[in-house]
Amino acid sequence: MSDLRFRSVEEATSRKPVKVELPEERVDRYYGCKVFNRKKMFEYLPRETYAHLVDAIDNHKPLSREVADSVAEGMKRWALDCGVRHYTHWFHPLTDGTAEKHDAFIEHDGKGGVIEKFSGKLLVQQEPDASSFPNGGIRNTFEARGYSAWDISSPAFILDNTLCIPTIFISYTGESLDYKTPLLRALNSIDKAATRVARMFNPEVNHVSSFLGWEQEYFLVDEALYAARPDLVMTGRTLMGHESAKNQQLEDHYFGSIPRRVEAFMLDLEIESHKLGIPAKTRHNEVAPNQFELAPIYEETNLANDHNLLLMSLMTEVARRHNFRVLLHEKPFAGINGSGKHNNWSLGTDKGDMLFSPGKTPMENLRFIVFLANVMAAVHKHNALLKASIMNATNAHRLGANEAPPAIISMFLGSQLSELLERIENDPAGEILISGKNKLELNLNQIPQLTIDNTDRNRTSPFAFTGNRFEYRAVGSTANCASAMIALNAAVADQLNNFADKVEERVKKGEAFESASLSEARTLLINSKAIHFDGNGYSDEWKKEAEKRGLDVKTSAPEMFDAYNMPENVEMFRRTGVFSKKELEARNEVKWEMYSKKIQIESRVLGDLAINHIIPAATRYQALLLDNVFKIRQLFEGEKGERIAAQDMNGIEKLADHMAAIKSGVEKMVELRHRANRMPNEREKAIRYHDDICPCMEEIRHHIDELELMVDNEIWPLPKYRELLFIR
Ligand code: ADP
Ligand code: MG
Repeated sequence: MSDLRFRSVEEATSRKPVKVELPEERVDRYYGCKVFNRKKMFEYLPRETYAHLVDAIDNHKPLSREVADSVAEGMKRWALDCGVRHYTHWFHPLTDGTAEKHDAFIEHDGKGGVIEKFSGKLLVQQEPDASSFPNGGIRNTFEARGYSAWDISSPAFILDNTLCIPTIFISYTGESLDYKTPLLRALNSIDKAATRVARMFNPEVNHVSSFLGWEQEYFLVDEALYAARPDLVMTGRTLMGHESAKNQQLEDHYFGSIPRRVEAFMLDLEIESHKLGIPAKTRHNEVAPNQFELAPIYEETNLANDHNLLLMSLMTEVARRHNFRVLLHEKPFAGINGSGKHNNWSLGTDKGDMLFSPGKTPMENLRFIVFLANVMAAVHKHNALLKASIMNATNAHRLGANEAPPAIISMFLGSQLSELLERIENDPAGEILISGKNKLELNLNQIPQLTIDNTDRNRTSPFAFTGNRFEYRAVGSTANCASAMIALNAAVADQLNNFADKVEERVKKGEAFESASLSEARTLLINSKAIHFDGNGYSDEWKKEAEKRGLDVKTSAPEMFDAYNMPENVEMFRRTGVFSKKELEARNEVKWEMYSKKIQIESRVLGDLAINHIIPAATRYQALLLDNVFKIRQLFEGEKGERIAAQDMNGIEKLADHMAAIKSGVEKMVELRHRANRMPNEREKAIRYHDDICPCMEEIRHHIDELELMVDNEIWPLPKYRELLFIR
């Protein structure tokens, strides 16, 4: 085994960058060439079909079967022109990643041959035999049918010679079995609610879109080293490994120069992303060694999320061309930073107003304050839910574990905004003067042009205001952003509706809109102050303070999921039409089940490695020492011999202690797993995995990492952190 390790290290370090062929054309010529975008639609669809389709997309209207047939025909012609012979519905089941089932464009022609055909029926709806996707008991196998249905708001694209059609995935009885369905529902609810409030300021507004700009962090590891680490291969993270003497303490990796092999990979990835219409823009090194980030220009949330999922598959594929493996896991290595996926989120109207941007006029500023207050209120009220929405077995290593950030949702506003809110709070609504029709003269006028300085950053906050958007930083790097975006958009939509009801009521009673809305916003700001925290979110004091403020401070992932079944959240999801109670319950079953399964796999891999790799290596080293002691005693007699052998004797004992602890730890872990598996329901089982098995794994790891420091480097069977983490 040690041979494998050294061969892997040699292979990894001797590699040269893979040459990337730059497209001959400029980026604007090949950007989106693999997407059935408006330009292609215009080219391949009859005029009338094009007009219907664009109208349906822009104005959220249904599409008739005739139009769908015509679209399917055009899409097929485009695909065939691109040399593509297969198509698939592309959907987001409740597992990680995406699912596909490929079919060829062929039908019998009735004369014993086949023709290339793709009908509207096949475009619009399919029935994947999908009984083995997680569904939390919604679909019994006797009614195993699930439907995938075309999402016209996200364009079809070509991936690996297959036409991919973004779809939702629902059960026979209409319940969502995926992430996209509830995301579209949540986006619909925020559109309605935010439009209602935005229209109070500008009656011309027809729609409000939610925007998402994600920042994808990831690690790269050379494929030879990766292959020599069964834990990376099976679980995506290292289950053992002592910290490297040098890691991120010199802070020399962040924004440092990008290694040439990695740069070639990034360039290749960007070209592929651009072909698929993913507006990849920023790339840089991250804090930890071998950690990098890619961020695109923000887009409408549903599209942005499809693009993120697509990018994650693309990364995996492109990385292989460069002899890398990409690690999307939130915590692949202990002791250094983990990976997140900051979700930059904002709302904007179809008239071009960004609703979280302060404006130039008092009215624009009032609108800003109104939207800010509503977001604060929603995040405050649903902080436990928001936390649950980003939690899973892998992100649990990043949040609330031994290393910060903590598992507490709070909101960072920055000094300028904090001051402003204080002023509003101390300025009772009664003092607000209204003069003229639309002119608002309040003390806010002292700062007629609000420009919020977005250099005022706090990197420890899980949810930060950054000048014109919120940055939801707690989202994990493997996550489907939809989960966070569903909870956030639905919660804010519900809050905005509540706000609109109250303001409308007051206006009906004769109060001026300006004073009614400012006064309601002020109440929200005051009542949700507990969520506002600009201090160090990583500190222990904050944990205590947050608990005092009544924020959710739970650190156990399986218990966090309970938030989805809390009455106020069930009601919120019902009112916004995002989830029924049945869906929420079923999805939680899936969450608990996935949690247990992931820990179960990790625990098995750890057990195998401990017994089959680590113990034998330590035993070999112990035998060397024993042999040495034996020879020393032969050569030097009496006290002298004992003195010389003492060190080795000490080592032999220490090795024995660690090995004994590992063996008994593994036995205990197996027993605890059996106990967990006997639990009567998924929730209890997940709690056992969290409470019993995770600490046991930590304990075993501790002893293995100690052995790594003692055992002869030549014998150690697994690539070490210092080898895995530094690409030359
Ligand atoms: P930083 O690391 O400093 O937060 P980055 O440039 O890495 O900044 O990422 C910023 C992300 O925020 C990008 O994905 C960008 O598209 C996105 N973004 C910028 N403005 C908005 C906005 N108004 N709404 C949503 N996302 C935005
Ligand atoms: Mg950021």
